[in-house]
Amino acid sequence: MSISLDGIILKGIGGFYYVETPAGIYACKARGLFRKTRITPLPGDRVRVAVTHEGDREAYIEEIYARKSLLVRPPCANVDRMFIVASAGTPEAVPLLIDKMTAVCEKKGIDPVILVSKSDLADPEPLVAAYQKCGFTAFAVSAQTGEGLGRLKDLIKEHLCAFAGQSGVGKSSILNFLLPDVAAQVGELSQRLDRGKHTTRHVELFSYAGGLIADTPGYGDLSIERFEPVYKEELEGCFREFAPYVGRCRFAGCSHDKEPGCAVKEAVAAEEIPASRYESYLAMLYEVKDLKEWERSE
Ligand code: GDP
Ligand code: ZN
Repeated sequence: MSISLDGIILKGIGGFYYVETPAGIYACKARGLFRKTRITPLPGDRVRVAVTHEGDREAYIEEIYARKSLLVRPPCANVDRMFIVASAGTPEAVPLLIDKMTAVCEKKGIDPVILVSKSDLADPEPLVAAYQKCGFTAFAVSAQTGEGLGRLKDLIKEHLCAFAGQSGVGKSSILNFLLPDVAAQVGELSQRLDRGKHTTRHVELFSYAGGLIADTPGYGDLSIERFEPVYKEELEGCFREFAPYVGRCRFAGCSHDKEPGCAVKEAVAAEEIPASRYESYLAMLYEVKDLKEWERSE
């Protein structure tokens, strides 16, 4: 008779899934079950495992519980908080990139938190204020001075978190600050295995401060917004600060573009909605508005 345990997949490597359970970590195989349902177990999946060899800490995955969210690239299930990092200094923040990432998060039910990094180099306030005005949690951080990292730590607790943002904004520096031991381990392991580009693209979850952080090596400059489309009819709902105005435009189905009597545009003119957010909305609308059904990837 085998015992069953609930746990969470930390990583999958070489056909094994490493599942953290209240009784420790087990190396698990996924049995044929998943080939039939065509669901591939992913880091972040909450699963039930049946222990086969207690001594060897081996088990197999019996069931994958329903996912609360799913990121395709990087592949990770159940991320519920995304730290979107944008620099106050260099590289200069690109509002459109930030807004594409917040939109993807909104679509997927992931809480986006905006971290304005390198606050020791330049004034983070304008960006912080713009995103706070929209209703996001946004604050300054610095891997140099430690500013904001205590607050960041508090936000990780009880969440499965990931970091996104342009290359060079300081994601690794923040992670290294939070997880110095892990950073050292990962460095060692990479050297030992001489892992090439392909094999480093394994998402791995690390326990930290009562939560989990998804480390996404190899995805440093592959931001989520490039892989997770937000379609036309979803778009207005992915800009949370539009909510008070949506449905108040003169025309039903207003796309908040060239239509007269648009409540969203009026709110932009009145500076209730930051102009840069509205510009991002329009840019995203133009990217997807003529997409045909068959051009959609999901
Ligand atoms: P990533 O590509 O987002 O992972 O960015 P990195 O963590 O590799 O950082 C890119 C560069 O910015 C490195 O040279 C870091 O030393 C520097 N950097 C990162 N965070 C800070 C910070 O808070 N302050 C300053 N002054 N430099 C930083
Ligand atoms: Zn409108």
